[in-house]
Amino acid sequence: MNHHLTRLRVMLTAMVVGSVVVAAHSAEQSPRASQSSSTKVVLLGTGTPAATPDRSGPATAIVVNDTAYLVDFGPGVVRRASAAAAGTGIMALQPTRLQIAFVTHLHSDHTVGFADLIFSPWTLGRRVPLEVYGPRGLKEMSSHLIEAYRVDIDTRTNADGNQRSFPDGYKVNAHEIIAGVVYKDTNVTVTAFATKHAMESYGYRFDTPDRSIVISGDTNPTQATVDACRGCDVLIHEVHTSAWLAARPEAGGAPPGTFRRFSEKYHTTTEQLAEIAQRAKPRLLILYHYNSLTPEELQSDMMKHYSGQFVIGRDLDVY
Ligand SMILES: [Zn+2]
Ligand SMILES: [Zn+2]
Repeated sequence: MNHHLTRLRVMLTAMVVGSVVVAAHSAEQSPRASQSSSTKVVLLGTGTPAATPDRSGPATAIVVNDTAYLVDFGPGVVRRASAAAAGTGIMALQPTRLQIAFVTHLHSDHTVGFADLIFSPWTLGRRVPLEVYGPRGLKEMSSHLIEAYRVDIDTRTNADGNQRSFPDGYKVNAHEIIAGVVYKDTNVTVTAFATKHAMESYGYRFDTPDRSIVISGDTNPTQATVDACRGCDVLIHEVHTSAWLAARPEAGGAPPGTFRRFSEKYHTTTEQLAEIAQRAKPRLLILYHYNSLTPEELQSDMMKHYSGQFVIGRDLDVY
């Protein structure tokens, strides 16, 4: 049995069957990918900057007709994708097939897996450049990373190099975006919307033949998120609890209240997320990039404010 199903969780049991969500209170959360849907949401990393061993850095995969579209590449992204491919049989998540990614913003917790995503799949045989979409600064980040690994690239592509026959696999085509439709192919239309964070930042809506999926990235509550969803099938949203925020010690000895003030401007509490979800009306709400004292606290805190269907996202869950 999948280890996720054996782990005790005080959460909702959510079964997504076709496009119908059935939820019941239970000590276990048993995520089920939609049986009739060809689109799958795979949570590769639900964590935050905190180095929590079982919650990798923020990364989500939308898989449509055997193609994976990543959103964010926090630490551990390639290994989590590999684990998902091995554990769920979603072969589009094999490392060499990771070829398209979108980034919500350039904070390090969402991007320190960028070098991993550029280089690890190449060493395993990816032959094509990585296509990446995101805010201004993405091109520079890409070119700086490639320069940082110049010794590696030169060694692997010189006359003696074991990757000289596929010298394009480490390259990055970085596309700096503005709000609107930023990508379209036969599987998916991807629309970016501006969010409210500490820097230029975007959420994304994916429209596939059978589902609509919205992912917030890091943001304070915004009307743009509500407008992007509007009855969407799945809303994946960041969150934290006020209790966690009150109890959190300041990192690095910063003055008291430093992070709380940052968080009030740039992140979302359970109360605020409940209000967003009540207006946006997703069929399923997935909480990710969360901070709380315990999962139980997050669960009960959210239930106090929101009566719709929601689940606490865990790494390698598939919806
Ligand atoms: Zn951020
Ligand atoms: Zn973040």
